[in-house]
Amino acid sequence: MLEITIIKCLSDNYSYLIKDKKTNIVGVVDPSEFKAVDIEIEKKYKKLDFILNTHHHNDHTGGNLGLKKKYNSKIVCSSYSQKQIPGADIKKKDDDLFKFGNLNFKVMHIPGHTLDHISFFCDEAKAIFTGDTLFSLGCGRVFEGTYEQMFASIEKIKNLPKDTLIYCGHEYTLNNGKFCLSIDRENNKLLKKIDKIKKKLKKNSPTIPVSLDDELETNIFLRCDNEKIKRNLKMNNSSKLEVFTKLRNLKDQF
Ligand code: ZN
Ligand code: FE
Repeated sequence: MLEITIIKCLSDNYSYLIKDKKTNIVGVVDPSEFKAVDIEIEKKYKKLDFILNTHHHNDHTGGNLGLKKKYNSKIVCSSYSQKQIPGADIKKKDDDLFKFGNLNFKVMHIPGHTLDHISFFCDEAKAIFTGDTLFSLGCGRVFEGTYEQMFASIEKIKNLPKDTLIYCGHEYTLNNGKFCLSIDRENNKLLKKIDKIKKKLKKNSPTIPVSLDDELETNIFLRCDNEKIKRNLKMNNSSKLEVFTKLRNLKDQF
């Protein structure tokens, strides 16, 4: 069993402390900073076997070196990263497995936000760590890759089992939801979800994780072939990729 602890970092980042309960192996996904993560490790496990990075951005790797030094951890990252991952030890490419205790993490290369971006999917735990590729009710900005790449990466995640829980890199959910609602106006499920999100945030609780199932019905970036959305965008005859590109551009200015 995979135990997952959400750690709030920096202004709106999430790092995830993970433990395989059977073997007592401990890891952290995307340590944004040393301090917040270290406090949680000291409190719970007092050790850290692995550091997993989804991509090279500093708000996902900032804690790498400090944690590695203190706990003698091994850093697992993308083989598509150049030299940007501080302290990289184990490099993984698309479809590789990473053994985390008794659990198998499948590495998926999902470029777009950055070219090196990967995700870690654990079928046994029904969990995926999506970094800055897929957020709740949104997706990451396209920085290094193309819209085609980002779209294909999101399609890959869409094909996972529907009960997969998504653990993403940032608390952007409410603002993302407002954007979805500006176009997907008749979506009752989305309206209800935004209500729930507001309640959670009021209590200072994370809106993460979310199930893929739920996102498929509410996240506009997963709904590029929805007829109502296409009509609202006046893109009735456009392809899914064209709709996705339009939505990403609109979101950039939202
Ligand atoms: Zn990023
Ligand atoms: Fe980020």
